[in-house]
Amino acid sequence: MLISACLMGQPCGVEGTDYGLGALRPTWLDDPRVRLHPFCPEDHGLGTPRTMPDLHGGDGFAVLDGTARVLDEHRTDLTEALLAGARAMLELARERAVDFAVLTDRSGACGSQVISIGCRFEEPVLHRRGVGVATALLLRHGIPVVSQRDPRTLGLLGSRLDPKHAPGPDVVDHHESAWVLRNLPLRGIPEPPGE
Ligand code: SF4
Repeated sequence: MLISACLMGQPCGVEGTDYGLGALRPTWLDDPRVRLHPFCPEDHGLGTPRTMPDLHGGDGFAVLDGTARVLDEHRTDLTEALLAGARAMLELARERAVDFAVLTDRSGACGSQVISIGCRFEEPVLHRRGVGVATALLLRHGIPVVSQRDPRTLGLLGSRLDPKHAPGPDVVDHHESAWVLRNLPLRGIPEPPGE
């Protein structure tokens, strides 16, 4: 299984922490039958610490297609670095023959449910449904991606190891959550002024 390195507690976040995510990952990931392959595409492409790569003009698929770019808070174009990180992540996934990936949502690289629209340091901070650059490349090559915010799917995966991990009837994935249904419309995705 491919996993965002920050979910494994590696300090690869933009400012050199794991964003506190390492302590929150599902316990079944530590089962010895699970082979984990951590990777950080942004650290690969840009190093750590780094400025904040955000998607401008579309999602990760649009970046792959050349119709959107990745810019940081200084408007420096980081598109090629993110693409390099995504390619390296795909290479690792293929080399290790992973079955699927668990990636950190909201990231311009690893997001798989929700991404920001433009710079996260500028008000108002806007979000949309969509995927980051690395996630888009994995999906295009047939590798399923689930986010750490998808407890229903993660619980179902964990239940294949032990039924005690099975999600309860009220547990939903992020795209089924009340917040996403209320705040992120499926159509009419806005772009901030000046995009
Ligand atoms: S690029 Fe992915 S692995 Fe790296 S810090 Fe961001 S979310 Fe975590």
